[in-house]
Parts: sequence; structure tokens; C-alpha cells
Amino acid sequence: MPSANSEVLAGDVGDFDAVVVGAGFAGLYALHKLRDQLGLSVCVYEAGGEVGGTWYWNRYPGARCDIESYCYSYSFSDELQQEWEWSERFAGQPEIRRYLNHVADKFDLRRDIQFDTRVISATYHEERSVWEVCTDQDHRVRAQFLVCGTGNLSAPKVPDFHGLDSFAGQLYCTSSWPHQEVDFTDQRVGVIGTGSSGIQVIPEIAQQAAQLTVFQRTPNYATPLGNGAMDPEFQRYIKQNYGTIRARSRMNNTGVPYDERVQPSALDADPDDRRRTYEARWTEGGFRFLKDAYSDLLIDKDANETAAAFIRDKIRQQVQDPKVAEQLVPDTYPYGTKRPPLETNYYRTFNRDNVTLVDLRSTPLLRIVESGVETSETVYELDSIVLATGFDAMTGPLLRMGVRGRSGLSLGRCWENGPRTNLGLMVDGFPNLFVITGPQSPSVLYNMPLAIEDHVDWISDCIRYLRERSVKTIEPSAESVAEWVSHTNEIANATLMSMAHSWYTGDNIPGKPRAFMVYLGGAPRYRQICDDIAAAGYRGFILDGAASAAERDT
Ligand code: NAP
Repeated sequence: MPSANSEVLAGDVGDFDAVVVGAGFAGLYALHKLRDQLGLSVCVYEAGGEVGGTWYWNRYPGARCDIESYCYSYSFSDELQQEWEWSERFAGQPEIRRYLNHVADKFDLRRDIQFDTRVISATYHEERSVWEVCTDQDHRVRAQFLVCGTGNLSAPKVPDFHGLDSFAGQLYCTSSWPHQEVDFTDQRVGVIGTGSSGIQVIPEIAQQAAQLTVFQRTPNYATPLGNGAMDPEFQRYIKQNYGTIRARSRMNNTGVPYDERVQPSALDADPDDRRRTYEARWTEGGFRFLKDAYSDLLIDKDANETAAAFIRDKIRQQVQDPKVAEQLVPDTYPYGTKRPPLETNYYRTFNRDNVTLVDLRSTPLLRIVESGVETSETVYELDSIVLATGFDAMTGPLLRMGVRGRSGLSLGRCWENGPRTNLGLMVDGFPNLFVITGPQSPSVLYNMPLAIEDHVDWISDCIRYLRERSVKTIEPSAESVAEWVSHTNEIANATLMSMAHSWYTGDNIPGKPRAFMVYLGGAPRYRQICDDIAAAGYRGFILDGAASAAERDT
């Protein structure tokens, strides 16, 4: 069996059963599953210098997960679950990287991963039913299956600020932070962007910099993370009950083991009870506030407003200067319709003497100049600028990879009006191309490691099914894709989720077609649909150019 490291040298053509792109949570598990459990020859390409994916690149100070680590981790190996000790409730980026390195070592994954190697094209050859994959290191390999573990938030948004190149100081991006420590001592630092990344990095830089200027375009509804050291007693409890915890998590839309307390409607609750409920979830931290209080917050605008108003009050209580507090209060979109950040000391950071908030809605950013940032009001002189401006989410990583399917059709052309998939897993006209946590699957609104495991298991079962029947290709029918797209849109339109301008809808990227890119029917229901389709002989899919057995029989 060829090995990615030993036999595929630059310029060579290697043949594999599967090429996996990415060595983050998704790619690592896909390699383990396809190689070690299915016995396929697998080659993995990873643009980063090590395993980790998003946790390799986003190494800015303050980066940490915001789903509890005992949930935000693999469940496929109980041995792994039992041996790994999380030191904090929400692990920081270095600890998550250590965990993924441990996984790579434990399952001997590195030998089949080519690091520092970016896939620049993937072309389907119809006559041979193979994918040919080329990299920026001059590799050219062929494989029957192409599995994309490219992540949902891995293609940084390149902001179109005039004059960005003219800045004479240091420019940093949270999404590609330097490997060596950055020292902001005595510096005047500007941070542009107040999404989850900005909200994590701002309190950290404020502690070091001489002066920090935060450039905010849209304020966010941030609720407390509630981080702390992992309680050894709780860690013991988790390990003893991991099976049940994971089973409960898989039955929950967010992929976490809570929901017994969720009440149907915030509007039906007595106002005092509702305030007590919000207060309790606020104190508990994590996604409890959004997900563990009332189930109509993302469906009913008035229900949502009860939560939004509570958060606005909390912001006002934390920020001493009333003018700054009002600038930090969001009021143009419902709570949760932009991905809500979880914060540690974010709002209180604006009480520091060395921190200034610039409201870009009232004083727009005009350009970057040699000495700093120019707004309609003044020039802010800076030594360093940190861009926390987000990602070309969901579709960006796939579209940047140069994917071409049948008849040379590019994925970009196929998705020119927004992503079109069946189950968020496959695209018609792109046989044997599997996307892990692709657009129109629950992905980013579920717990990513579990979403990844669900998809990799489905993909692996599908490949096993094909091989047992000597079927060479699978792809969704155009009808099944049309149905899935319309089903996904129908569910999204029944919620408030499209009401904000966000990366969920593609609005954060100028010119990107507007489409809600996440399946909102909930992971348990979604998993059942995926399982039913597989059990019905891949209903809605075309096998070797013909409708699946299930469809032929009906
Ligand atoms: P983001 O949520 O898209 O935030 C980007 C920020 O940059 C927004 O405040 C945006 O303002 C601002 N911005 C973008 N372009 C701008 C421009 N031209 N001028 C001025 N401001 C501009 O990106 P992110 O913070 O990197 O987070 C992306 C996602 O990654 C999160 O939603 C989350 O899913 C994930 N993430 C998770 C964690 C975690 O805790 N686990 C941490 C970081 C990231 P507007 O809102 O006005 O567009």
C-alpha cells in the first residue's frame, strides 16, 4: 500500500483509494476510519505544518473552544476518552493542539499526511472514474474517492481596505497568527473586527498593549463563557458516564448533553421566572443561555427580544461609560442570528484607561494609511493592526480548491447562486466527492467533532457498500439535490436565522450569493434522514451512472 510520505514524491503520480484534504478534526478521523477500519490506501494533504486545522492556524492569544471540552472532542475511541485529561472547562488552543497531536500519535496518522502542502486542483476524469489531485508542491495523485475535510471556517476573508499594503507597522490576522509569541508591550495596537475571534483576542491584547483601539462595525450579543479549571470530581464523573453523555449529546441539536430544562416558550413564562431562568443560564456559561432556556428564541421575534433585552442590560451593567456601553449594545438584528460569541472579560475591558472603542457605523473606516487607520473622523496612529475580520465560510474552502467535476464543470460555476448539495455531503456532477460537514448539513450549529464523526461514519459506510457491490461511483441525482436545497431553505425561512448579515448567509463577503448555509432541522433528525437514505440503498443517489437499487425497485 503506498504511503503519502514515503512514496509520493514531488512530481510523481501516485494512485490511492482515497485522497483526504485537511488534517484537522475531520481529516484525522477520516484517515483513521478509511485506512485503519476500511483498509483503504489513503493520502492526506494538509496546508499547515502540523495537524490541527483551525486549531493550527488560529493561535492568537485567547483562542479557545466555546463548547465544553469533554464534549468538543472525539467520541469514537473510549480508550482516548478515558486517557485524555482536560485541564480547563473550555480548553485553550494550545491544549486542543496537544490533544490532536496525541490523537495523531496514538493512531499513527502522520505517516500518511503530507504537511505544508496545499491542494490547488482536483479534477474528475470521467473515462477512468478517478479524481486527479494536484498540490502546490507539485504532487499529482489519483484516487477513486476525494474526501474534503477542509473545514467551514478555514478560508480567511481578505478585507478590501484601501491602502492595506501601505501600513508601515506590523499587520496580524487572527486566522493565521505567527508561531512565535507576539509582544505588544508599549505598542499602540488596533483590532478590527468584533466577532468571536476579536472578542477573544481583545481582552488579552488590552493587558499588554500601551493603547488598544477597537474598531467595531456591528456590536455582538456576547454572553459569559464561564471558563475555569476542570473539577477533578466532574472529570471522574464524565469518564464513568461517557457513553450516556455522548448518547444524550447526539440527541441534542447542539451536540451537548443538556436540554431537559428547555421550556417551550419565553413568551409563556412569567417575567420574573424568565429573568431568573436567564440569570441562571448566564451564570452557568457556555451555550446554556442560547440553547438551554427557551426553544422559541430563534423562531419568534418577540421571544428573542426577551433574551436580547436581558443581554443589553447586562452589557450596560458591565461598561462604566454609558456612551461606550450604548455603542456596544446590539440592536439591529435578533440575538443568535449572528453566531453569538462567548466572552471572558470582554465588556469590562472597555473600562480600562488604555482601551478605546471606535464605532465604525458613525465614523466609517475610510482606509489604512502608513501610520494607522483613517476613519471619517481622524487618523488613529498605530504600531500594529490585528485583523479579526472573519472567513469566507462554508463554501470558501471548497471553492478555493479548484474542484472540477463531470465535463470539466467547476464547483464555483455549479454553486454560482449558492451551495447545492444532497445532505451537505455530496454534489451532483461530482461523483465520489464527499464533503465532511459541508454546507446544508448541521455542521457549525452542532458540536463539530460529533458532526464530523457522523459524516465520516456515513462516508465510510457508503464506500464499504460500494466496494462490496463493485460499484465504482456514487453521486446524488439532480432531483435529490434540488429537494434538499429547498428543504434546507424552507426550514431556515421558518426561523429568524436569515435576519442578520453574517457568515451564515454569506453576507460578510462582498459579491457572495446570499443563501443560508446550515441545515436547521437539528442533528438528530438529520442523522435519521442520512441513516434512512443509506438503509434504502442510497435513495436519491446514482450508482455507476444508474439510479440506486431502491429507486429502481419503486
Ligand atoms: P466574524 O464573526 O465574521 O467577525 C468578523 C468581524 O470583523 C465582525 O465584527 C465584522 O463586522 C468585522 N469586519 C469584517 N469585515 C470588516 C470590514 N471591512 N470593516 C470593518 N469590520 C469588518 O469572524 P470571526 O470572529 O473570526 O469568527 C468566525 C467564526 O469562527 C465564529 O462565528 C465562530 O463560529 C468561529 N470562532 C469560534 C471561536 C470559539 O470560541 N470557539 C473563536 C473564534 C471564531 P460586521 O459584523 O459588521 O460584518
